[in-house]
Amino acid sequence: MERAVFVDRDGVISEEVGYLGDRDHLRLIPNSAEAVKLVNQSGLKIIAITNQSGIARGYFSEEMLGHIHRKMEQLLSDQGAFLDGIYYCPHHPEGTVEAYRMECDCRKPAAGLLTRAAQEHSIDVSSSYLVGDKRTDIECAHRAGAQGILVLTGYGKDELRKINSAALAQPAYVAADLRDAVQWIIKEKTSGKPGDPHHKIECNR
Ligand SMILES: [Mg+2]
Repeated sequence: MERAVFVDRDGVISEEVGYLGDRDHLRLIPNSAEAVKLVNQSGLKIIAITNQSGIARGYFSEEMLGHIHRKMEQLLSDQGAFLDGIYYCPHHPEGTVEAYRMECDCRKPAAGLLTRAAQEHSIDVSSSYLVGDKRTDIECAHRAGAQGILVLTGYGKDELRKINSAALAQPAYVAADLRDAVQWIIKEKTSGKPGDPHHKIECNR
C-alpha cells in the first residue's frame, strides 16, 4: 500500500480568490510548487481533493475547471513538480444547476472523495495526511482516519481561531504553509514517530 499527502487546492496550492472560475486568475501560493516537488521526491503520492461548488452554483462549468487544472499542472510542472491526481466535488445541496444539486458523499467534510482517491491509487489512508486551510478539511481527515494538518495560508488563520474555540477535530500539526506541512510530514515519515509536538501558532490578526 502507498502513503499519500492529500492536499486541498484553494488557499493551499493556489491563492484563495473565492470561486476561481477563470484560469487567468490562478496564482500558486509561494513555495507550494517546491512543496509538491518535495513530496514527489519523498516517495509519497500527492493528490488534490477540492470542493468546487461553483459548478453547482452556476459560476463556471466542469470544462472550465478542467482548463484551470491543466494550467495549475503546467505551473507546477514549470517548477519540476506534479500531482498524482486531482479529485473534485462539483455538488452543493442548494446549487442552482439541477444536475449538481444534491446531498452527496464527496463534499468535504464528507470523506467520499478522499476514500475514492485512496481506492484508485491503493493508498493506506491511516498512514496518510490531508493538508487544508479549513475546519472541514481537518474534519474530513478525521472521518477518513488520516492525519489532518492545518495551514495558515488561505482561510487558515481565521479557521484556527474557530477550531481553538470549539470542540472540533484538532489538527495533528499547524503549519505556516504547504511547504512547512510537507517538511513536517517528511520528518515524521523518516523518524517513524510524530515529528514536532503539536504546536499552536498565535494569530495576531
Ligand atoms: Mg481551501
